[in-house]
Formats: sequence, C-alpha cells, structure tokens
Amino acid sequence: MKKIRLAVTGATGSVGGAVLDICARFPQLFEIRALAAKSNAKKLTELGRRHGAKLLCLTEPEDKNWREESFTCLSGVNGLTEMVEEPSVDHAVFASSGVAAIKALQKALMRGIDVSLANKESIVVAGPWVMPLIKRADQLRPVDSEHSAVWQCLRDAPKEEVSRIWLTASGGPFRDYSAAQMEGVTPEAALNHPVWKMGPKITVDSATLMNKGIECIEAMQLFGLPAERVGALIHPRSQVHGMAEFVDGTVRLLLSQADMRLPAAAAIAWPRRLPLAEDALPPIEPRDWDLCFREIDEKLFPCFALAREAGRLGGAYPALLVGADESAVRHFLNHEISYRAIAEIISEVLEACGEKTPQTLEEAVALVETGEKMADKICRDRRNR
Ligand code: NDP
Ligand code: MG
Repeated sequence: MKKIRLAVTGATGSVGGAVLDICARFPQLFEIRALAAKSNAKKLTELGRRHGAKLLCLTEPEDKNWREESFTCLSGVNGLTEMVEEPSVDHAVFASSGVAAIKALQKALMRGIDVSLANKESIVVAGPWVMPLIKRADQLRPVDSEHSAVWQCLRDAPKEEVSRIWLTASGGPFRDYSAAQMEGVTPEAALNHPVWKMGPKITVDSATLMNKGIECIEAMQLFGLPAERVGALIHPRSQVHGMAEFVDGTVRLLLSQADMRLPAAAAIAWPRRLPLAEDALPPIEPRDWDLCFREIDEKLFPCFALAREAGRLGGAYPALLVGADESAVRHFLNHEISYRAIAEIISEVLEACGEKTPQTLEEAVALVETGEKMADKICRDRRNR
C-alpha cells in the first residue's frame, strides 16, 4: 500500500509531537517528508533526522543563513507555502500556533491534498477565507480534540439531520471556585491544569474557559452551524470530548482517553482507525465511564461569555478577541495584571472597536494585531495609574 507522505507545521510543539509519535508507531503507513517550525533549529533538525524528513522549514530562523546538511531548507512564511506545494507531499498537518500558516493552509486545500488542522487561530480568524476552499468531504480533518470528537460523531450524517453539537470542557483548575476565590488566582495556579499538559497560553485559556469559547467559534466555522446550535458543557473527567444531537433526539458521543495522539491519529489515518488501544492507549473500562455534565456559569467565566458573544456577532469580533486575549494572557503570566483583568481588558477592546466586518484575509489578520495592540495599551495604562 502507498504510504501517506506528510508535511508537519509546528513539528517542535506539543501537538506536532503527538502527530510524530503516531507516525513513528506506524512506519508502514506514514512517511514524514517535511517538517516546519518557527525558530527552534536544533529541535527541528533533530526531528528531521529521527523521522527521515527531506525538507525543513523555519519561518523565523535566528540565523538568516540557516542551512542543514542533507536537507532541503526553506525559510520565511513563504517557505510554509512552498512546503505544501511539494509534489511529494500528499497530506499537510497544521499544528503551529498563531496565524502564520493561514496562506499555506489555503494553498494545501486549493491543491486538493488532505489537511489535518490543529491550529484554531486560522479558522477563528480566517474561516470565511479558508472553509470555501475545501474541495471534498473530509479533506479538512480537525485535530483539536473536541472538534475531532464531533467530526467523528457526525461521520456521514446529512447536515439536515444534525440539530446541535456540544463540546466538553474539563472546567480547568477553577471549575469549583466561588467568585470570591477567583479574585486571588495567580499565574502559577492557572498553569496547573488538571487534565491536559499544554503550552502556557492555552493552559491559561483553559482556566478562564476562553479556550472553550474560542473553540465554539471554531466549531461554528468547521461545521457550518450558527452559535445557538453549538454548545459547551463542563465535564470534569474529560472522557467525553464532543457530542452530536440529531433531529430524532438521539445523541452520539465520543468517549476516550484525554490524549492528543488519538485525535491526531483519527485525522491523519482517516478513514482508518489505528490499533492504538493494544499498547499505547488502553481504553477506559466501562465501570469507569463517567457521564456527568454541567452548564458553564458565564458570570464565573466571563472570558467564555465574551467569546460566545464575539461568535454570535461575527464580523471583526472573533479576530479582535484572539488578539486581545493573546496580549491579556501574556501580561497576566508576567504578573502585570490580575486574573480578573484578563476579561475586563478583552471586553474593553471589543467595546472600543466594534469595527466593520473585514472584507479581505489581510484585513482579518490585521485585526488580530489591532486587538493585541489595544490590549497592550490598556495594560500599560492600568500599570501607570
Ligand atoms: P506549542 O506552543 O507547543 O508549539 C507551537 C508550534 O508552532 C512550535 O512548533 C512552534 O515552533 C510553531 N510555530 C509558532 N509560531 C510559528 C510560526 N510563525 N511559523 C511556523 N511555526 C510556528 O503549541 P501547541 O502544540 O500546544 O498548539 C499548536 C496549535 O494547536 C495551536 O493553535 C493550539 O491552539 C492548537 N491546539 C493545541 C492543543 C494542545 O493540546 N496543545 C489542543 C488543541 C489545539 P518553535 O518551536 O520554533 O517556536
Ligand atoms: Mg480543544
């Protein structure tokens, strides 16, 4: 059988690592052709050697003349686009953070190759410029775990038979806190996520539930559903990752271990299921299945409420939200603003810039920077008060 030849953007990151782990376990199915990251040349080269890649790409190498022997080396954001245009690549994985890979994502879809997408920012900010480029069912496979779960629940269901979808949230470390307890939350406490081990920004977003709000916008784009048909529920055990409810009132849900290798494998191996349960990821035993869900309290989690509202309003709001959150979380992690201020600052940015709907991809991407700069300024002004 012909191997699937992959290009992985964000190879040095946490999701990139999950994808490479799956590829290494099934060398008869996958061949790594190309790997990309931002600036971590050492790790990228090491991964390139270990996985037998032919091409490496760094979008922002520290050394402008960066080259590695025995690899074709590309640099700059255009390198990502060139990488997915390589005729020897037939599946592109986007697991980088930020918005740098949007053009390459568009190119991969236009070329008609399969795409696995973990990067949320590109869909939340550029959904209207990405989704119409999809050429066939399942060309774009979600890797974000909740979206992968919904996608797997929806398999083959005609759209008119789907009434609602649900994403689950572990609720993060503060799910049982009172409003008073939320006041004293520190970056160290926010970084202590009970279930998933992830980078600091997304871990804080999981504690504020901003991540879940952004994921609702991501789901609206990926599955073409309006805000009122996309729900989120707290599910502390993180066994069920997503659900789809159909017009006859039945619900399908996906229950699995919380491990990013599972959605990564579902995406890159589709329509096959890989025998991961045999050794790497034993299934959860039925006696341990937990089906407890509860509503999210929007007063306790104002970041979730802000993201839901941005999703409902559409236009410039999702991109501004992504930018403002990036800045507010950075200032929080630097101990420069309080936990509560994260939502206050994002709310201020959204209120101040009810700007009109972006007409082009460039305008949409620029709004992320606008949101970030405005939030930076509000943070500075607060410190100087
Ligand atoms: P990490 O911070 O662990 O890794 C980020 C990766 O992206 C690194 O390889 C980094 O390269 C690369 N990168 C960053 N900026 C650029 C750029 N401008 N050009 C090229 N590559 C770049 O992130 P995660 O793996 O946690 O997350 C990746 C994406 O997946 C994000 O969009 C996140 O929201 C999403 N996601 C993450 C989940 C998780 O469990 N972690 C779950 C679901 C979705 P370098 O090392 O050189 O900086
Ligand atoms: Mg997720």
